[in-house]
Amino acid sequence: MKIKTRYNLTFTLLSSTIILFFAVTIYFLAAKNREKEYFSILKSEAIIKGNLYADEAITSSHIQDIYRQQENKNNLINVAIYDVNRHLLYQDQPITIPQDSIQSVWNSLQKNKNFKNKNKNKNKNKNKTKYSIGFPFQYDDKEYFIIASGQDIYGHQEMYQLRITLVIIALSAIILLYVLGHFLSKRLVRPIIEMSEEINKITAAHLDLRLKPLKHKDELNQLGEKFNLMLDRLENSFGAQKEFVAHISHELRTPLAAMITDLELAMDYNRTDKEYRDTIKRSLDDAKKIVTLSNNLLDLAKANYEPQEIGYMPVRVDEILLEAYQEIQTSHNKYSIQIEFETENSDDHLITVMGNPYLLKVACKNLIENACKFSENHKCIIKISDTPKMVKVAFMDTGMGISDEELDHIFTTFYRGKNQTHYSGYGIGLPLTKKILHQHNGKIKVETKLGSGSTFTLSIPHLSNI
Ligand code: ADP
Repeated sequence: MKIKTRYNLTFTLLSSTIILFFAVTIYFLAAKNREKEYFSILKSEAIIKGNLYADEAITSSHIQDIYRQQENKNNLINVAIYDVNRHLLYQDQPITIPQDSIQSVWNSLQKNKNFKNKNKNKNKNKNKTKYSIGFPFQYDDKEYFIIASGQDIYGHQEMYQLRITLVIIALSAIILLYVLGHFLSKRLVRPIIEMSEEINKITAAHLDLRLKPLKHKDELNQLGEKFNLMLDRLENSFGAQKEFVAHISHELRTPLAAMITDLELAMDYNRTDKEYRDTIKRSLDDAKKIVTLSNNLLDLAKANYEPQEIGYMPVRVDEILLEAYQEIQTSHNKYSIQIEFETENSDDHLITVMGNPYLLKVACKNLIENACKFSENHKCIIKISDTPKMVKVAFMDTGMGISDEELDHIFTTFYRGKNQTHYSGYGIGLPLTKKILHQHNGKIKVETKLGSGSTFTLSIPHLSNI
């Protein structure tokens, strides 16, 4: 069912229930009031006749004449007057009260002194509801009992009219509410329909399109704003991906093109052994560059995994550093790496973190390699320390340092500083390290001074804090 229809039906159903509740309440209150009113009409008619009879100003037959001469015979109220011994003294016409209930009348009168009765006629005709009233009456020290009964024809007609009026009003109100609800719900869902039409136009090729702001600053407008923000993020990441792919293909093409040219030239002309060896060496270097780049990319992809996809285990930071140290020393024997513990006899837990050994090693290797790469002495001093919550590893060098303006960019993918001209790299190391740290709930901090060196410090929560 469409929202529009569901909203309209709910609205109409709720309002109809309220309308019907009020209509029924009004009707029953009016019926109760009318009943009360008719009993007081019966009583005053009975008192008038009681006074006429007891006063003896006119005879009983005159009173009966007045009764018979009334125009509306349906609306007649029959009155019967009894003495204290229940002897009938006067009646407008015989059988004022149904004979079978006369005894219950006397019983009631004896108990309560007053008597009121509503008797629905058995022939199912509601017009024939008979109301009776009985009460003791005193006139000049003489005691009487008066019983009056009649059918409330006017009252019934009034109630019938009220019923019809209420039904017509209620039905018209319900129909009106349904029609109004229809237009209202249409108005309410119109912005949603418009939004969905605009969303339909947004495709990968038109990611720059945005939802228009709505007239009313309501929840729907907020949804639109949130949707636009999501599109901003998507557009950025799409753009970044495009740029990434373009960059990678460029980085791959350069060494590949150099390799191809070198190898083609070597094939076409006769060369000396030394020249062949030089060509092979250059091609090997280019091939190594490609391998490094593809490894870096693979690591970057891994660091972008969701945390639940990465295998975590307790890892000793010093062991990771030792492995990184050994691997770097194997490939760069000129690099000098020194590992120092700031705190002696540290508890195992204080240098153990919950992490992925491979990714942590990648992060450490990047920082060690950078420290050695960007300093003349190719030296990196690593200092391990702990705080109550974190294990800290500082990678220090006395190299060229980083300028303030570059510092803001070094964690951006593919960014390479001015100082990198003579050093190989792709600008992937630091952003990758930052991502890995983020995956381990850790942080990376840089302290650097141009010309004096840099210190990159990693902080990762250790096991006593997890
Ligand atoms: P790459 O090392 O491949 O250039 P990185 O992402 O590791 O890429 O580093 C980005 C840039 O940050 C480097 O090009 C360099 O300019 C600067 N940088 C990183 N580490 C150091 C360091 N220890 N000393 C000086 N500059 C550094």
